[in-house]
Amino acid sequence: MKIIVASNNKHKIAELDSFLKKYCPDAELLSLADIGFTGEIVEDGDTFEENAMIKARAVWQKGCITVADDSGLSVDALGGAPGIYSARYAGDVCDYKKNNEKLLRELSGLDGRQRRAKFVSVIACILPDGREILSRGECLGEILTEYRGDNGFGYDPLFYYAPLGKSFAEMSADEKNSVSHRARSMAAFAEKFSKEVEKC
Ligand code: IMP
Repeated sequence: MKIIVASNNKHKIAELDSFLKKYCPDAELLSLADIGFTGEIVEDGDTFEENAMIKARAVWQKGCITVADDSGLSVDALGGAPGIYSARYAGDVCDYKKNNEKLLRELSGLDGRQRRAKFVSVIACILPDGREILSRGECLGEILTEYRGDNGFGYDPLFYYAPLGKSFAEMSADEKNSVSHRARSMAAFAEKFSKEVEKC
């Protein structure tokens, strides 16, 4: 079974790979580079679900399974921002550092419950015959007032997960992969996927 992972984000691909290998050990995973996809995918949906499906549809090929993730951070006090704009929160030309700095600025002066946030991941999958599956996972936490940890990517150094007493960037890959939004969307996906495959 060949599975195309529709992402160019190497951190995300590494996390998706570890889940897909767990749930589909016999699968051969193909990146966008492996299939020679160089096009630009315009993510102009209004929700994580729409954007995840836009990515999956852009690269799906008949006979292959395609998996895409759209994810981001949603902060209560910011009305859910940065949400679907998480990758470009600080502007079109930005990076993880600029996004994190903007987040700290926007939340300055707020404390406790006002810093509550969640990470969201939506997995879109298209099966070889074109059937589509969507699954969502969320992880609740709070935004720290300063960076903690060097692991992970994106907003990980600012996202504190109370049940483990660590930021995502202080966790090992295995720890993050046991509690993260992506772990939850992948678990929900695995359940739906096995039911769809049974119908074949
Ligand atoms: P996407 O590639 O359009 O789905 O954008 C996802 C963005 O959300 C990334 O660029 C990160 O800024 C953020 N993000 C998503 N998942 C994570 C995560 O697991 N840790 C930290 N940041 C994340």
